Amino acid sequence: MIDQATKDRILTAAKIEEVVGDFVTLKKRGVNLIGLCPFHNEKTPSFTVSPAKNICKCFGCSKGGSPVNFIMLHEQLDYADALRYLARKYNIEIVEKELSSEELEHRNDRESMFAINQFALNYFTKILWENEDGRAIGISYFKERGFRDNIIKKFQLGFCLDKFDSLSKEAIKSGYNKQFLLKTGLCTESERGGLVDRFRGRVMFPVHSLSGKIVAFGGRVLKKTDNTAKYVNSPDSEIYHKSNELYGIFFAKNNIVKEDRCFLVEGYTDVISMHQAGIENVVASSGTSLTPGQIRLIHRFTSNITVLYDGDAAGIHASIRGIDMLLSEGMNVKVVLLPDGEDPDSFARSKDSSEFNAFIQAHQTDFIRFKTQLLLDDAAGDPIKKANLINDIVTSISVIPDAIIRSLYIKECADRFEMRESVLAEVLAKKISGTQKTISQNEIKQAVIEKDQEKPFAFMQEQNLIRYIIRYGKNLIPVQIDENKIEQISVLDYINQSLIADDMQLEYGLHKYILQEAIMTEGDFRYYFLNHPDESVRNYAFYLSEDKYERSNIHDKFNKTETEEERLKVIIPRITLEYKNKILEQQSNELIAELKQANAENDYKKINELINKQMELNKYRQTLARYLGERTIIAL
Ligand SMILES: [Zn+2]
Repeated sequence: MIDQATKDRILTAAKIEEVVGDFVTLKKRGVNLIGLCPFHNEKTPSFTVSPAKNICKCFGCSKGGSPVNFIMLHEQLDYADALRYLARKYNIEIVEKELSSEELEHRNDRESMFAINQFALNYFTKILWENEDGRAIGISYFKERGFRDNIIKKFQLGFCLDKFDSLSKEAIKSGYNKQFLLKTGLCTESERGGLVDRFRGRVMFPVHSLSGKIVAFGGRVLKKTDNTAKYVNSPDSEIYHKSNELYGIFFAKNNIVKEDRCFLVEGYTDVISMHQAGIENVVASSGTSLTPGQIRLIHRFTSNITVLYDGDAAGIHASIRGIDMLLSEGMNVKVVLLPDGEDPDSFARSKDSSEFNAFIQAHQTDFIRFKTQLLLDDAAGDPIKKANLINDIVTSISVIPDAIIRSLYIKECADRFEMRESVLAEVLAKKISGTQKTISQNEIKQAVIEKDQEKPFAFMQEQNLIRYIIRYGKNLIPVQIDENKIEQISVLDYINQSLIADDMQLEYGLHKYILQEAIMTEGDFRYYFLNHPDESVRNYAFYLSEDKYERSNIHDKFNKTETEEERLKVIIPRITLEYKNKILEQQSNELIAELKQANAENDYKKINELINKQMELNKYRQTLARYLGERTIIAL
């Protein structure tokens, strides 16, 4: 936790032009600066930075905000980590709020594990480049694969000597604790209690988290032996959950957003070779079949995924199940079959990025069509096989959340199979009613109550904001910019920018999370959150998007013949003000309590200070009250 005073110092120090300038080349235009938007692909600059207002905004994709917002978006960090980033940039020392001893221990454990992984990373890369064996075995292996020096360095590849305890000895000598060598899985313990290096004799692929920390390693053996696995990976630990990580995500995230597409491959070397060829929006599932956690990680950045398959068909059937899961998460899935005998690694090595992209463009197929063709070839001339196949395809279609897309596929399949569309539609309907889980009222309550331990003072007002973001986040409303300029901005941007303008942020965990995800998500929010991989988010979104959800009474004053959607331009500014008003009420209550205390202590200096603060606050509240009308009564 960062204390308020430090937070204020960071917010004051951070200059938007300097913060953005680290990532975007800016040119002066009038009072503003302008550059190419880092969040979408463009050829003429529409990303505008206003030093006077200390904000930035893209007039193409409407992303932007304060310096903190920019860093949150650009570096994909949460609010606190964005503040820490800015603190580092401006050399501001962060005074973290005191944590409980339990929190401290937990955090220290995690930090110690990150620290030892970082130590191991430095050690492995040093061995690779400076040790005789490292160069003779490790570097020669990478060169054989065609990796250039800069790419070996970018991915921080390394080498672990083929000795029992070279890493552990070095770590202990440098003062690291045995406990964390074991917890991270860098070492195992022998029967006699000695430490044994897990990765001995292997070239090392460090696994970076989304924010670039080393969470794990993968090691590939080079010696041909019968009983060792080709790849060994770090075990799951407090800092590493294999099912939630994707290899390469740290290096890919910005490009995934920019290209609005993610390539999915299988192995470490596929990712590295593609980067070397200039294709940087690529991640690997590292051999395991895709998990919901991994899909969600990709979905934070894009809804479009292209799976690259080796030329040989053997692996394809096995991985098709994983793709059904992508469909059920609402992803648009394309498939590219590489030429016979090629894998993404070898293929990328033989092409540059424009050749590679041209091939993808020419050969990518929609997944359902791909699957249909694949199975049709298999079932040629066998009616029973064909029946199973139809069943299989309809199952894939049934998991797609969007009804319109489903019906388009059914129509197309009917054509392909020369069947009546109504028959397939009927099969589809049966499958959907059979699989769709009905969420009981109890489950919803549970989800709401679970997150309920500490409801902030402005809970209802926060909930209202989130409700409208989920239902209408992408709708545009007109906003008066100055006397003769009206701009259309999205409901999400309106609410988000208003919170930023007053340096307020939602307090309730689930709300904060949904707002955060909404900022990162393209596409329809209602659809996205109703299909969210996290059950409690999904249930909560369902609860908020229900029409019977109890509405704040302000809406009843409006003309009933207008739909809610039509009234957004009135409702959204209003619920934003209501939220702000509630926050000010809380601040005012706190001031009054402090004032009482100061009174009791006869601390006149403090009393004066507090009264001044309160006057300022009341002035602001009165302004709000004028907008809100008679519903707000301020006790002065
Ligand atoms: Zn943009």
